[in-house]
Amino acid sequence: MQDSRRQAQRALLDERAWAGGVVQAASEAIVALDGQGRVTLANPAARTTLAHGLTPGTDLRAVTTFRATLSQAPFDAATFWDSQAPTVLPAGLTLVRESGPVQVEGALTPLRGAQGELRGRVLILREAGALQRRMLGHLEEGERRVREHEEMLAHVSRLSTLGEMGAGLAHELNQPLTAIVSYSQAAARLLDDPEPDLSRVRYAVTASVTQAGRATQIIARLRQWVRRAPSRARATDLAQATQNVLTLCRADLSRQGVQVRTAFPDTPLVQADPVQLEQIILNLLRNALEALHRTPAPLITLNVEGVGETWALTVLDNGPGIAPAVAPRLFTPFTTSKDGGLGLGLSLSQTLAQSMGGDLRGENAAGGALFTLSLPRLALEAASD
Ligand code: ADP
Repeated sequence: MQDSRRQAQRALLDERAWAGGVVQAASEAIVALDGQGRVTLANPAARTTLAHGLTPGTDLRAVTTFRATLSQAPFDAATFWDSQAPTVLPAGLTLVRESGPVQVEGALTPLRGAQGELRGRVLILREAGALQRRMLGHLEEGERRVREHEEMLAHVSRLSTLGEMGAGLAHELNQPLTAIVSYSQAAARLLDDPEPDLSRVRYAVTASVTQAGRATQIIARLRQWVRRAPSRARATDLAQATQNVLTLCRADLSRQGVQVRTAFPDTPLVQADPVQLEQIILNLLRNALEALHRTPAPLITLNVEGVGETWALTVLDNGPGIAPAVAPRLFTPFTTSKDGGLGLGLSLSQTLAQSMGGDLRGENAAGGALFTLSLPRLALEAASD
């Protein structure tokens, strides 16, 4: 009798040892918890994955932090840890730990006694595979691009309002300028006097300085309004940026029946702020579109070519070309030949290009206006650093 009981006990112990061995050997993280969420057992994989000793009695909830990616609903830790039914972690969840974040998948399963009472839970985790990590990486990259485009669109719509503001602005600037002219003329006349009244001259000059200050303020306000976030230069595909702008202008191009020809090499990488870069290209494309209003068979040709240490984007149209009156001051603010034009697009674009270490030039070429945007070329290896 005693013998058979001993045998049964040994068999039970063997089975336990075997089960324990399986848990210890598993490559997945396995943590058993009591009803209060305290660790009762953790295998070596769990200690590695969670980067924690997980000694019995550890409150697992206190030492484990999950974070959802941008595309997911925020992770609700309380609901998860208290779940009464088996709960799978949302795909792509990140486990935050001191040694660095890692994407994990897994589940928390309640353990119940014979009467169905909750005895504890078991958490099983494994690190997400390389393929899944890459897919999530792409997903986040996609989200980032959408955000960038939204930012750009917001800015573009601000720029077009700026065009409408042009007339009002000219009026505002005209007042201080007229005042400066008349105060200065008065000062000059007073000085012609054999015995000039210096206090009146001083008054006229001071008033003129005040008005000049007002004009500066108006321009500063305008600048502030136009200014975007500071430049965030990084490896950017010049051809892709151009394509993005073409997509943005597709409706206007087809409404005007403009034919577009492009020739781009594979991945011409430049060091640039992608949003500002698209803003420059958009300005060039808009100007070309406006120049082509009355041109039969309108055509815009966009090429990207390697020129020395730079990639150069050329925008050529077959419109009337740059007017002789405008050509010498093309990049000077407020140079415009358009009714309601503000003459800020090219000067702003050139400033942006130069702040990225590049340049923007404009000239007349066979058949129309040619603008060349050049930016520092980036080697592919440098980009992946
Ligand atoms: P805006 O478009 O408000 O006039 P810009 O700085 O963009 O300001 O352009 C300044 C001027 O340069 C334009 O008014 C126009 O006279 C000339 N210009 C720009 N692009 C072209 C082009 N593609 N063809 C002919 N003229 C152009």
